[in-house]
Amino acid sequence: MRYVSTRGAAPELGFADVLLAGLANDGGLYVPTEWPSLPTVDRDASYAELAAAVIAPFVGDDLDRDTLDRLCREAYATFRHPATVPLVQVDDHHFVQELFHGPTLAFKDVALQLVGRLFDHVLSQRGERIRIVGATSGDTGSAAIDGVKACANVEIVILYPHGRTSDVQRKQMTTVDSPNVRTVAVEGTFDDCQDLVKAMFNDAPFRESQRLSAVNSINWARVMSQVVYYVAACRALSTPLTFCVPTGNFGNVLSGWIARRMGAPIEQFVVASNTNDILTRFLRDNDMRTAEVVPTLSPSMDIQVSSNFERLLFEMNGRDGGLTAEQLQRFRASGALSVEADQRAAWLDGVFLGARLDDAGTLDVIRRQHAATGMLLDPHTAVGVGAVDELRARGEIHGPVVTLATAHPAKFPDAVERASGVRPPLPPHLADLFERPERTTVLPNDLATVQRFVATTFG
Ligand SMILES: *Cc1c(COP(=O)(O)O)cnc(C)c1O
Repeated sequence: MRYVSTRGAAPELGFADVLLAGLANDGGLYVPTEWPSLPTVDRDASYAELAAAVIAPFVGDDLDRDTLDRLCREAYATFRHPATVPLVQVDDHHFVQELFHGPTLAFKDVALQLVGRLFDHVLSQRGERIRIVGATSGDTGSAAIDGVKACANVEIVILYPHGRTSDVQRKQMTTVDSPNVRTVAVEGTFDDCQDLVKAMFNDAPFRESQRLSAVNSINWARVMSQVVYYVAACRALSTPLTFCVPTGNFGNVLSGWIARRMGAPIEQFVVASNTNDILTRFLRDNDMRTAEVVPTLSPSMDIQVSSNFERLLFEMNGRDGGLTAEQLQRFRASGALSVEADQRAAWLDGVFLGARLDDAGTLDVIRRQHAATGMLLDPHTAVGVGAVDELRARGEIHGPVVTLATAHPAKFPDAVERASGVRPPLPPHLADLFERPERTTVLPNDLATVQRFVATTFG
């Protein structure tokens, strides 16, 4: 299997190189040269076995099948539910797929538990090491740390805004006791953290001397790993499905689109946003215009640039990388992206539906769901459930729907308690989280200071 860049000007690479590269060197995102069909998988297969079978064609010859099987088995053994990603029925036609039974209680574990192991295996084969540097507002940092904490060939430094993450999110990062893990509390905002990371990557001598790498959501291996749970839900329910995806940068929805492209019986996608609704505006009104990011109760969806949309745009442009690059350049210059009517008709209409829910609506969904079934939803999942209710009331969707539950309610206890009156307890493996000692370093929002820390902290 080979991979091409969505901007058409980077070298074609194999899976292992794409995994380590992240972004293509023309600024584009890597996609496979062709979409494989879904494999035939034994009816009794476990989630880990299904994952290895679905992922195998994307990995090609870069990993032998026994190794892939083993890495999938190890990755999904960290999930604390025998079904790995269980389906829970909430009404006649509505299921919630709980993707939050991994170590850090968010769906990002599904990808990052596997991606960490893939990184480590490829690096050890090549005799190389890398140092991951990333910025987080919460979920990505803890999932990335947990994904690589046991890796021999990976070090990780995660920057987060001092005093601005939730206690659970911070504790999940700062209580990991591994010699290859560091966290830095930056005296600044999440944007400041991101700017520091960007500046470190743009400093070529520093980037090369430190062998810097990223595991952000544009990494192909993350998108690939997320295809599997869509396939698992279709197999479990044996009927064509509509999926509702609480969305930030379109990564998760794109994985669903790939599952559909590979042959999974998926009818439609509901793209659910909070007040940061660039995708909903685009899908409903063809208006993709960036706006100021507004903080909400579902912070992991507080995003205005849906970077993974570029992969779908490349398909919509008939895989013309030059055209895609041009269109994105215009988007960056003008702040607005528009798509031709025939392109919309061929690729988007009837497949992607948009809906948005503000904070008041989110709290109302959590309250109503708890009153009706006793189930507690986290605010991100509630945005999805509310979107389904709204579109069904309007007659825009029919038949069985699966909403992806992207976080455990205990990860956002304040919002859940405010809505339902119940403070969700942490699951047993994290019950003592607040007693564990924290290790972190507070640093000023100053590039030279942070660079010195990254360069010297591992001795
Ligand atoms: C990251 C995240 C999302 C958004 O996922 P995308 O891949 O950016 O669409 C939604 N919910 C939770 C809880 C998350 O952590």
